[in-house]
Amino acid sequence: MNKTADYVISLLYPRRCPVCDDVLRPGSKLIHENCEKKIKPVGRITCMKCGKPIKDKTRELCQDCSSTIHYFDRGYSVFRYRSVSGSIYRFKYAGRREYADFYGQKTGEYLGDIIKDIKPDAIIPIPMYAAKMRKRGYNQAAVLAKAIGKSCDVPVYENVIIRTRNTVPMKLLDQQGRRSNLKKAFNIRRNDVKFKCIILIDDIYTTGSTVDAVAKEFRRLGVERIYFVTLAIGQVV
Ligand SMILES: [Zn+2]
Ligand SMILES: [Zn+2]
Repeated sequence: MNKTADYVISLLYPRRCPVCDDVLRPGSKLIHENCEKKIKPVGRITCMKCGKPIKDKTRELCQDCSSTIHYFDRGYSVFRYRSVSGSIYRFKYAGRREYADFYGQKTGEYLGDIIKDIKPDAIIPIPMYAAKMRKRGYNQAAVLAKAIGKSCDVPVYENVIIRTRNTVPMKLLDQQGRRSNLKKAFNIRRNDVKFKCIILIDDIYTTGSTVDAVAKEFRRLGVERIYFVTLAIGQVV
């Protein structure tokens, strides 16, 4: 799209700041400078497996990863959850799809080199149950995946895997419950696409049970290397 068209669209549908949600001036940056200071990147001292920030520098793995076998190889996140929770909430539930441009840009900035080194064949969003998506209008993970694919120049495949069951919201369940809640919840739909290396995309990583359930299906399909990138990551252990 050319600049004039961009400008006209920005007048009709003013872009909002992903932190304070106020309207941004047309043609300005994707976030207020002062607001950007309020969000915190994950930082460098992280779990070697899931990418969660860890306090104890001498540890390689967080508590969860020392006791859980994950189906993914490794994961990375951009922001600390608490500093972007309000933003992600509006991104998911208040139709603020435009925030994805900022999220994608930041993912490129913080994780672009890592993603380049991984050399993924595909970026794949964690799917949402079809009926839920119709109700919400979009799958935020897919919107995010497209923005990340664009900023990191990796093709995005949206319909390779589907969610076959509507699952109970994870926040209502404990670890055990989360895992059984996801049993047979995902199904690979296309066996004609062969990937060696993929990056799964979701908005938030907490215990990793969702990413694991999806990764497990792709392992079964023979994908050799499976990574994930999420916008935000939960608690510091
Ligand atoms: Zn702002
Ligand atoms: Zn970990």
